[in-house]
Amino acid sequence: MAQPLNDFSRLCVHSQTTKPWDIDQCISEYSKAGIQKISIWRHLLENKDLNIVKSKLEQYNLEVISLVRGGFFPNTSKEKREQALIENIDALYEAQAIGAPLLVLVCGADPKQSLKKNREQITSAIKTLIPIAEQTGVRMAIEPLHPMYAGDKSAVTTLEEANTLAEIINSSWVGVAVDVYHVWWDQYLEQQIKRCGKNNHLFAFHVCDWLVPTNHMLTDRGLMGEGCIELKKIRSWVEEAGFYGAIEVEVFSERHWNSNQKQYLEKIKKAYLSAT
Ligand code: ZN
Repeated sequence: MAQPLNDFSRLCVHSQTTKPWDIDQCISEYSKAGIQKISIWRHLLENKDLNIVKSKLEQYNLEVISLVRGGFFPNTSKEKREQALIENIDALYEAQAIGAPLLVLVCGADPKQSLKKNREQITSAIKTLIPIAEQTGVRMAIEPLHPMYAGDKSAVTTLEEANTLAEIINSSWVGVAVDVYHVWWDQYLEQQIKRCGKNNHLFAFHVCDWLVPTNHMLTDRGLMGEGCIELKKIRSWVEEAGFYGAIEVEVFSERHWNSNQKQYLEKIKKAYLSAT
């Protein structure tokens, strides 16, 4: 469905997209630019009074879509796994405190153990967190990451795997975040998006673009329209799957971080309307 020009009602920007800005700048600048939704990266909340952050978000009419990110569950050390759980419990309470209904999970991986072991530890950790999710009213979204990150960032790499994991866990508090950067190449993407929607597991939709060549694994993402991802096609599948929530712009890019962030925000709005 074509969106009317200048309709930014579904546009959400991840604070990490404008990395040079602190939380106060993100809130005021997004709002000034007519953006109504934000996803907040946790490090911006360090040493902040979350009540003040929440009232500032309300004052500027910004809806928080998600807190990013929890996860990083697996570890060969039991103590570190327990620490990770505590960290995720804190994240769920932080999300609740700022009014974020969703915590995005980058599930993690410890290269010192097998993928199978990593995946078992991820499953068990998410299950352990469900009562806290319920208590805080914050849902959790498993975000499958591109396989190039399987060594240390996420043993969950395909949407098929994330779907299966969410189905095994089988809780209304646990779903999936579809990020085009991680899943665009998958030949079964359409059917896996439909499966995700059918099971009410499609919790979030993240957009950016894949640059050719990509010069850095983490910090060389493209703005929508700069790369080779068929964004409009993927968006149409997501909508056919019943998802009409926020479209979250999540771009990690040294190139864009080094530019004027106010002008960049205008580029984001343009790219959102023309290429997404
Ligand atoms: Zn993402």
